[in-house]
Amino acid sequence: MSRRKLEPGERVVLASHNAGKLEEIRARLARHDIALLSTTEFSIDEPEENGTTFATNAMIKADNAMKKSGLPALADDSGLEVAGLNGEPGIHSARWAGAARDFAMAMRMVIARLEDRFGSFDRADKRASFVATLCLAWPDGHREFFEGRVDGTLIATPRGTGGFGYDPIFVPDGETRTFAEMNRNEKAALSHRTRALHQLITECVTIPA
Ligand code: IMP
Repeated sequence: MSRRKLEPGERVVLASHNAGKLEEIRARLARHDIALLSTTEFSIDEPEENGTTFATNAMIKADNAMKKSGLPALADDSGLEVAGLNGEPGIHSARWAGAARDFAMAMRMVIARLEDRFGSFDRADKRASFVATLCLAWPDGHREFFEGRVDGTLIATPRGTGGFGYDPIFVPDGETRTFAEMNRNEKAALSHRTRALHQLITECVTIPA
């Protein structure tokens, strides 16, 4: 089945209250004459993310924004999957930081659980991936999904002050620096979200002849 396309001049709502994500995705879509609107323009609430996969959670957010706005809506869900923890924290990545959004604590939890499981961090399976799934939902119920991932290795002691979340303990494959030691453009060139967005643009945006 062929992909549904977004046409030049089309308006799309981003189901996110994250201003950084809005600006990043807006800039990429603007190059193709697609306007990205924010949920605040439609007073769209945040639905409960009770899915069990990144794709279901992205779909819940996209469907909600699409129904409230009547426009095609885009949402993403992302997180860190640690091989030695059977994919955890995964969809619970934000939750591990608690209500205070304490990612220093969340990173300590990842390291401590690996130490518990393998006896020491040195012996642990340190492979991990950041994963992002995008869902684009149209008012007629049609949906498209795109997944981006970046594989890497965890380190025991956080390094760097850039980025956010689990960036200070994640070294992408082929690099020696953590995501938090890279500048915004260097991280964006490798990131799971960029890869998912690139696929969406390749598959779902009509490039004028
Ligand atoms: P959400 O998709 O915005 O809900 O993000 C889920 C959580 O995954 C974030 O709060 C972070 O903990 C984690 N996460 C997602 N992407 C990244 C990233 O690029 N770097 C670090 N942590 C990330």
